[in-house]
Amino acid sequence: MKKIFAFVLAALFCLSGIAFAEAKPELHMGTNANFPPYEYHEYVDDVDMVVGIDAEIAAAVAEYMGYDLVIDEMEFGALITAVSTGKIDFAMAGMTVTDERKESVNFSDTYATGIQVIIVKEGSAITSVDDLFAEGANTIVGVQESTTGDLYCTWDIEDEGLGTVDRYKNGADAVQALVTGKVDCVVIDNEPAKAFVAANTGLVILDTEYAVEDYAAAFAKENTELLDKFNEALKALTEDGTIPAIIEKYIPAEEAAE
Ligand code: GLN
Repeated sequence: MKKIFAFVLAALFCLSGIAFAEAKPELHMGTNANFPPYEYHEYVDDVDMVVGIDAEIAAAVAEYMGYDLVIDEMEFGALITAVSTGKIDFAMAGMTVTDERKESVNFSDTYATGIQVIIVKEGSAITSVDDLFAEGANTIVGVQESTTGDLYCTWDIEDEGLGTVDRYKNGADAVQALVTGKVDCVVIDNEPAKAFVAANTGLVILDTEYAVEDYAAAFAKENTELLDKFNEALKALTEDGTIPAIIEKYIPAEEAAE
């Protein structure tokens, strides 16, 4: 009797071991899926999914590290706190590496470049970035709250008394404010800018750049083990062509060169 009991226990133990081996641990990525082509919603086989460069790189990296990726959506401005308090394992959201953010989180190696550009209505009096800093211009600039576009315009324009900054929950809302004439221009990252301009008539992106930045994933200060593994995966998947192929799929090289 004792032997049978021990056998049953051993069998159960093995079975549960197999079950554990098959279910991969979850890796939670926080993002704001309103930032095409890095993260946005799309129906894939009738299922509403978060797709884009960040979503696909994160899925490839998670698989490489032996995790199942879970995407948690939130406002962009909530991401840094969600990372530093451990609510999510990392944030990936076309997020620019900045010294201020580095005080709260650690950044992975860079995987893409972003450029802050200016969107205006066709025929606008604003024709270059310098026009934003012109004395007496009193430009109303639309931005996405808590982004680098918000930070730069607050410092360079609002704090200098050169104009005002209107902050919106996401880039699409800021662009809508431009379309309806509530703001004179929108300062935002170049790739989403292209997508928003393509989706609305009568808008153009100015040729001059406001700032050039590096995108990286953000991790909690104490979670250096995950950060190291993430960087290792990023490197391997860049070298084997996986990550370049993901970027090329969303930003074809000939289009990027335009
Ligand atoms: N790159 C900008 C930033 O990090 C905007 C990112 C975003 O809106 N998702 O602030």
